[in-house]
Amino acid sequence: MDFRLTDEQELLVAGIRELMARENWDNYFAECDANSQYPERFVKELAGMGIDSLLLPEEHDGFAAGLVTVTAVWEELGRLGAPTYVLYQLTGFNTILREGTQEQIEKIMALRGTGKQMWNSAITEPGAGSDVGSLQTTYTRKNGKVYLNGHKTFITSSAGVPYLVVMARDSENRDCFTEWFVDMSRPGIKIEKLTKLGLKMDSCCDIYFDNVEMEEKDMFGKEGNGFNRVKEEFDAERFLVGCTNYGIALCAFEDAAKYANQREQFGQKIGRFQLIQEKFAHMAIKLKNMKNMLYETAWNADNGKMNSGEAAMCKYYCANAGFEVVDSAMQVFGGIGVAGDHRISRFWRDLRVDRVSGGSDEMQILTAGREVLKKYR
Ligand SMILES: Cc1cc2nc3c(=O)[nH]c(=O)nc-3n(C[C@H](O)[C@H](O)[C@H](O)COP(=O)(O)OP(=O)(O)OC[C@H]3O[C@@H](n4cnc5c(N)ncnc54)[C@H](O)[C@@H]3O)c2cc1C
Repeated sequence: MDFRLTDEQELLVAGIRELMARENWDNYFAECDANSQYPERFVKELAGMGIDSLLLPEEHDGFAAGLVTVTAVWEELGRLGAPTYVLYQLTGFNTILREGTQEQIEKIMALRGTGKQMWNSAITEPGAGSDVGSLQTTYTRKNGKVYLNGHKTFITSSAGVPYLVVMARDSENRDCFTEWFVDMSRPGIKIEKLTKLGLKMDSCCDIYFDNVEMEEKDMFGKEGNGFNRVKEEFDAERFLVGCTNYGIALCAFEDAAKYANQREQFGQKIGRFQLIQEKFAHMAIKLKNMKNMLYETAWNADNGKMNSGEAAMCKYYCANAGFEVVDSAMQVFGGIGVAGDHRISRFWRDLRVDRVSGGSDEMQILTAGREVLKKYR
């Protein structure tokens, strides 16, 4: 396995570096974080570079690039301090192309290149978190229409997206789970914003559906196929969460290393103290492991298929190792890491959330454990 990037991948990464050097994006990110605001101007710049088309097939003017390329882009963006957690949607065009009707595809593709938020999946409910199968939102057919009723919670991007793909069960056949492509401007939808510890540049809301009227054509994918469809999305999302955590950890590490080589106490640079050096050794080992795991998984995906166990391992390992790296980096900064407005405190808050959102640590371990044992049956 050769981890060297191709010339095209190198060019793309150089383009990212150039974009990040064009202005002090960190001020913009800090402002967006403080105001819980989606960094649309930044995402638009990336979309302008074609980042939202990386995985799209050539017949849709995409790059058909694969996950190794996505990993390289996420790594560099993260290393330079960008909040890649707001970009998960950019790779979601393929889901729409695979599952959507022509009308749904056109609605989402119209947003390509704009930097605007497009869509997200709404599955979780107050009584159905890890146990998603216990969800209570229903769809009911009546007089040629379909009516959606229920309460979703913790739904990312939901204050900003024009469409949500909502998982619901048939009120007549409760074992049948189907997704619906819901236009968020429809009557009967109420949105309540939640506050959260980190990942503040993207919204997270409670959504109430009260007899929201839809048509049969608003079904997303096939009837009864809801959970099979999201399984594939979960794997891709978990892998990307791993890439985000790795990139941010790399940024925190580099920031801390520069600081350790410059900050003086007891008459010498703090990087000369063995207790500080020990932290850097452990941080570097974790970063190396994350990098190898992510590129190997991406390479496997590009040359076959990523299985759910691999995706779960990437999310679990990178969320935890990444958080430990950021936490150690924060310690190196001493007081300025925890007081004032250094970006390390934002990274720390962001990474802590990722150990729960998108499936908790415990769920990743259960998935990975099941998958590794399968091989030896
Ligand atoms: C910021 C954020 C964004 C999110 N975005 C979305 C979104 O866009 N769309 C969406 O549908 N959902 C979203 N979620 C929901 C997220 O997927 C759930 O929060 C997550 O799956 C955990 O569910 P829960 O919070 O109900 O915790 P619970 O399931 O109640 O779990 C509580 C604790 O018990 C543990 N636990 C539960 N069952 C077991 C078990 N069998 N064995 C061992 N331990 C167990 C969990 O790991 C956890 O530690 C988001 C959540 C957050 C925090």
